[in-house]
Amino acid sequence: MQLDFHHGQLGQLGLSQTMAINIVMFGPPGAGKGTQAEQLARVRGVPKISTGDVLREEVRTETELGRSAKAIMDRGALVSDEIMIGIIRRRLARDDVRQGFVLDGFPRTLPQAEVLDAMMVGCDPIIVLDIMVSSDEVLRRIGARHVCSQCGAIFGDGALTAVCTRCGDELVRRSDDRESVVRKRLKVYARDTAPLMHRYRDRSTFAEIDGAGTPDAVALAVAAAVDRLHGAASPEQTGRVSQ
Ligand code: AMP
Repeated sequence: MQLDFHHGQLGQLGLSQTMAINIVMFGPPGAGKGTQAEQLARVRGVPKISTGDVLREEVRTETELGRSAKAIMDRGALVSDEIMIGIIRRRLARDDVRQGFVLDGFPRTLPQAEVLDAMMVGCDPIIVLDIMVSSDEVLRRIGARHVCSQCGAIFGDGALTAVCTRCGDELVRRSDDRESVVRKRLKVYARDTAPLMHRYRDRSTFAEIDGAGTPDAVALAVAAAVDRLHGAASPEQTGRVSQ
């Protein structure tokens, strides 16, 4: 998250300025957000925070939250803002996000977006990427998608192996990847999440990414956008300098 300082202040302290890289990924289910977020986080050396992964871990370990979230997730609906905001507040309070983060799956509603913006006041701005993929392509991709039952690694068509190449565990279908549930998730995305783009579209740190290509092609477009927007987010560009 990192508070930003004026270059001069840092110079007096004998420090060089490094801006945190705070990235938020949007896109419908199956757009490749998870895969792209994972790669981006690895390359930039910051944590990937996936609210879906957090919830699936709660389900897997059969916590109280996991039990109540499972029913909601399995019908393609959204878990309450209160719960999701609590999860993100706790996660973004940890030290490992000082140099930045890649958020995947949050915010999904207006109250969540408002809380995130409020949390980011005084921090380096968020870079917002909207990965665009058609509904037909989403249905095709998710129809072929498997995930590792243990570590959550994602395997799309063309990348399918017998077991997880990362941890060796069994590959399964996500319980919310049935076609009827995917159609519901697409509707929920269009109704609750896609309108959030009006909030971000005019910011200098927003970009749309064509998500129709191969994962490698999309990763190149994502990397180029992040490089460009990270420059656009510098204190000189935003005029945002703390006292
Ligand atoms: P995902 O892995 O991002 O596709 O998320 C899987 C499911 O977790 C969603 O369909 C929702 O039920 C729930 N979920 C994840 N993130 C959120 C969020 N920010 N707000 C509400 N529900 C969420």
